Amino acid sequence: RAKSAGGNRFELADPEADARAITRHGLTTALPAALERGEFFIEYQPLVHLGDGSVRGAEALVRWLHPQHGVLGPDQFIPLAEDTGLIVPLGRWVLEESVRQARTWQARTPDGADAGPLRVNVNLSPCQLTHPGLVSDTVDILERLGLAPGALCLEVTESALIGADDDLLKPLRRLAEMGVDIALDDFGTGYSNLANLRRLPVSVLKLDRSFTQGMQRFPADPVDLKIVEGIVALAHSLDLAVTVEGVETGAQAEQLRDLGCDTAQGWYYARPGPPDRLHELALADATG
Ligand code: C2E
Ligand code: MG
Ligand code: MG
Ligand code: MG
Repeated sequence: RAKSAGGNRFELADPEADARAITRHGLTTALPAALERGEFFIEYQPLVHLGDGSVRGAEALVRWLHPQHGVLGPDQFIPLAEDTGLIVPLGRWVLEESVRQARTWQARTPDGADAGPLRVNVNLSPCQLTHPGLVSDTVDILERLGLAPGALCLEVTESALIGADDDLLKPLRRLAEMGVDIALDDFGTGYSNLANLRRLPVSVLKLDRSFTQGMQRFPADPVDLKIVEGIVALAHSLDLAVTVEGVETGAQAEQLRDLGCDTAQGWYYARPGPPDRLHELALADATG
C-alpha cells in the first residue's frame, strides 16, 4: 500500500497476526499459573495390537482447558512451554499423572481378563532429555506409584535424536536398561540415517502419520507400500516393534497388518479420550 517517495514502506498491521502475537504472549505468561491451578488434563488414545485387535495401552496427550479460549491442543502451547522452560515441570506432571493412571487401570482390571497389563506412552520434549533430573524423576515416579518400568514407554521424536551424541543418549540408555521402552516418534519425517538406529536405545519405531495418509488413496501407491514394508523389515531385523500412527480406516489397518506392523493408533479405533473410556475399551475387548 502507501509507499513514500523515499522508498520506506508502510505496512498495515495484520490484525490476524496481531491477534496471534497477543495470544502467543498471553498464553506464554499464563502457562505457569495454569499449571498451578490444574488447568491441564490428559486424554488417552488406545494402542491396538494389529494381530488380534486388543487394546494394549494408550498414548497420553496433554490438553489445556484455558478459562477464556477453551480446550487448547498441545501444538498450541507445547512450543511456548519449551521456549520458557515450563516444559520441564509440565512434562513431569504429565509423566506422574500418566503413570498414576496406568496404575489405576491395572488395579481395576480383573486378572486373566486382559492381554497383559495396560501400558502408557508419554511424550518427551527435547528439553526434558537434556534436563539432569530426567532419570531420577522417572525412577522416583515409578517407584512411588508402583508401576513396573516395562509398563512405561517414553516417546522421543526422531528429530530430537538426529545427530545425538552419547551425553544426550546416556539418560535414555539408563532408562532402557531399567526396562522402560523408548519409542522413536514421528519416524520417517526426520531424514535420519537408518544405520544410526543401531546406536539408539530405542525398542519401538512409531511410523509417522504421513505414511498412513499416503495409503489413504486407493489403490495405494505401490512405492509407498514398498517403503513401509522395507522399514518394517529393517525395524524387525533390529528387534524393534513398529507402531503406526493415524490409522483412520479399516482398510488401512488391514494393509498395515499385512505389511507386518505390530501396533496401531488412530481414529479408526478411537479418538483420544478420558481415562475411563480407555479402560472400558480395553475391558470390552478383553471380555469379548
Ligand atoms: P504425536 O506424539 O505424534 O501424537 C499423535 C497425534 O496425532 C495426536 O495429536 C493425536 O491426537 C493425533 N492423531 C491420533 N490419531 C489420529 C488419526 O487417526 N488422524 C489424525 N489426523 N490425527 C490423529 P495431538 O494430541 O494434537 O498432539 C500433537 C503432538 O503434541 C503430539 O504428536 C506430541 O508430539 C505433542 N504432545 C502431546 N502431548 C504431549 C506431552 O505431554 N508432552 C510433549 N512434550 N509433547 C506432547
Ligand atoms: Mg507421540
Ligand atoms: Mg507420533
Ligand atoms: Mg505425529
